[in-house]
Amino acid sequence: MEKPESAVAERAAEPMFKRVALIGIGLIGSSISHAARRAGLAGDIVGSAPPPEMRARAEELGLVSKAYADPVEAAKGADLVVLCTPVGAFQEIAQAIGPHLEPGSILTDVGSVKAAAIQDIAPHVPAGVHFIAGHPIAGTEQSGPDAGFAELFDGRWCILTPGEGADPSALAKLSEFWRKLGSNVEIMTPEHHDMVLAITSHVPHLIAYNIVNTASHLERVTDSEVIKFSAAGFRDFTRIAASDPIMWRDVFLNNKDAVLEMLGRFAEDLTTLQRAIRFGDGETLERLFTQARATRRGIIQAGQDTAQPDFGRRPARAKDGAQ
Ligand code: NAP
Repeated sequence: MEKPESAVAERAAEPMFKRVALIGIGLIGSSISHAARRAGLAGDIVGSAPPPEMRARAEELGLVSKAYADPVEAAKGADLVVLCTPVGAFQEIAQAIGPHLEPGSILTDVGSVKAAAIQDIAPHVPAGVHFIAGHPIAGTEQSGPDAGFAELFDGRWCILTPGEGADPSALAKLSEFWRKLGSNVEIMTPEHHDMVLAITSHVPHLIAYNIVNTASHLERVTDSEVIKFSAAGFRDFTRIAASDPIMWRDVFLNNKDAVLEMLGRFAEDLTTLQRAIRFGDGETLERLFTQARATRRGIIQAGQDTAQPDFGRRPARAKDGAQ
């Protein structure tokens, strides 16, 4: 028997999740809300954040229909719960919400570190709830509910790190959710994720934090000169170094081994450059710089950055000779 047209239309419009709970409504939480609304993935989106002003702002912006102080209230009745707080808060939140999670629901996170996040969350996940950890490789140096935008995940990768016993249909559903948010999805082990991200994200942030602080400790170059001539390269490090200190503190506390391993290699390679400069070895410098330039080309070819001069930051200012 054929279904009435209205019932078919209703089913077609049924969102992927009835109630999505965002625990933490900062850059990533608010971007998930924007992108999920854009794609019609959620019947309702609720959230949780500690400060009252953050909750009021999240409701005012329409990111969530209701923002709760207590993550338990947000998680109750949700068929998708996403932990979007700094990694250091995961354990306490998982412990609190665990007993209240709906059987059959999916619990995931967006933390920048995976092995430690899983260690903190997994013991609190009751049987019948599908926990699959994740990490969208997309972000900016901004934070808070005003920072989010729907396009943040477009064309970027989201890495999912399911455990061995993960339910295939829950994994397929979460992968589809991220694809509909705009991402490409890749599956890997948490340990491999942490190693890859240590070199592509964590060590670069550490270098940025360090070089910005080194410049501010100099005695023979004034702070005003550092700022005035920053377009020579320094400025690009300051953008990364403006990232949220709490989030990054938690990344380094939770991905210690992989970061120390990559830092060791970085220090060895830095010594090679230092020696080449000391001994006037132009051949080595040219070879290593050419190699690095090829990596940049690869990133552009993969569509992970723009080839425009100055990252497309400013329109060409013709005629007046300004740079
Ligand atoms: P954010 O903008 O600072 O937002 C974090 C949110 O979590 C804020 O609303 C914060 O409120 C809230 N929060 C902190 N502790 C909480 C707790 N105990 N209970 C409930 N809410 C709490 O940070 P974000 O950039 O969205 O980062 C969130 C997560 O995404 C982190 O785990 C990070 O590793 C990961 N991530 C970040 C990026 C990036 O580039 N930023 C990219 C990918 C993944 P308060 O501000 O009041 O503390």
